[in-house]
Amino acid sequence: MGRESSSSGTASLIKSSINQIIDNALSTGVRTIHIEPGRNYILVRFRRGSKLEVVNKLPRSNILEFSKQLKKLANLDIRKSSIPQYGKAKIEINSKSHELQIVSVPVLDGEKITIDIIDSVDKRQSLEKLGLWGESLNRVQQKLATNHGLILITSPQIKPSQDILRILLNTVDTNSHSIAYIGPTDAKIPNSTYIRAEDNFVKSIPTLDIGKYSVIGVGMVNTSNLACRISELVVKRQLIMAVFPSSTAIGALISWQRLVGDSSDLPFVISEHQVTSLCQYCKVSYEPTVFERLQLVTNFNTDNPTTMNHVHALEKLAIKASLGDSNEPGSDTKKVLRLFRRSTEGCRHCNFSGYGEDIGIFEVAEPTDTLRTVIGHNNSVIELQNIAVGEGMISLKLDALIKALRGIIDFKTVIAICATAG
Ligand SMILES: [Zn+2]
Repeated sequence: MGRESSSSGTASLIKSSINQIIDNALSTGVRTIHIEPGRNYILVRFRRGSKLEVVNKLPRSNILEFSKQLKKLANLDIRKSSIPQYGKAKIEINSKSHELQIVSVPVLDGEKITIDIIDSVDKRQSLEKLGLWGESLNRVQQKLATNHGLILITSPQIKPSQDILRILLNTVDTNSHSIAYIGPTDAKIPNSTYIRAEDNFVKSIPTLDIGKYSVIGVGMVNTSNLACRISELVVKRQLIMAVFPSSTAIGALISWQRLVGDSSDLPFVISEHQVTSLCQYCKVSYEPTVFERLQLVTNFNTDNPTTMNHVHALEKLAIKASLGDSNEPGSDTKKVLRLFRRSTEGCRHCNFSGYGEDIGIFEVAEPTDTLRTVIGHNNSVIELQNIAVGEGMISLKLDALIKALRGIIDFKTVIAICATAG
């Protein structure tokens, strides 16, 4: 009896610390929380853009109870810890209800749990607001207008891709199209049919009366079986949009081609990296340092006049597309004139952090004839990337540079994107 009461004491302690962690995230504008076993502690980390900051270390001995309470919250199977599980949860904090997506993934020392706060996904959210602009935005809009084929949405984390999928599905005209959404979690797309995929999504696709739906969203493609099934489904009258984790658009094209073993029907790919923006009210402009100029040359060949002309021309297009809050360019045809960094003091708009909301860095790859011909012949990612860029694709790193010139992100973020996206 004594034992029982002490374990229920632990449970309520853990429940209240979960509430506290989420409350803390909400009040500092954080949407993603990672809870994972460290060597001596449970690490609680908040994600801001691409950065994970440690916000708390909790006693290691509570890890099992932590997993258990979080899984209970999302109706996950608390007896299973060796397979990934997804679920949604509702939680009330300060008498306000919040919706969460909880993902548990087995790691070496137990389970890593990711909590995404999804209730405040802005209903007015659009691709433009996420940071898609210019030629990349045009390509996406044109692809959506054709109403058939396959669009893969890819990012290093799953949640940002699912947000984009939701926005894309929301743009579909439901008077002339019927939508089915197959997902690990309900994306709450208005006027759509939601099919909950249990452990294995592949099982749910055959149960779907495909002919009935002209637009199908798939919340996560995680097996080659499912990829092949989707590839078979791609017929002229249907538009399929699916989340497929990868770090670049070209990387996604290559993995997809390997999974389905067919390059005649390459998908259209939207790749996004979510990063932290600078607070637009207190950001500070400065002239690039000598070291940063070197980094610009190494990563962007800014010492090449043709390249710099191209960068400047793109920045002018970005100004036309209202990217950034000023019309004064951060580049000319010869060099990068200025960059921006966060204010260390911050201001009241950013809760004195110097940072703003998360923003997307994008890369949109169209499956051109050239790509179709060369893919599958063991070309490296870089070779294919160069072909795509030659055919007008704005790469992740170039999009990041333009956003840095426009004062939306800092240069450190650009370098981080160069490191992960090549
Ligand atoms: Zn500020």
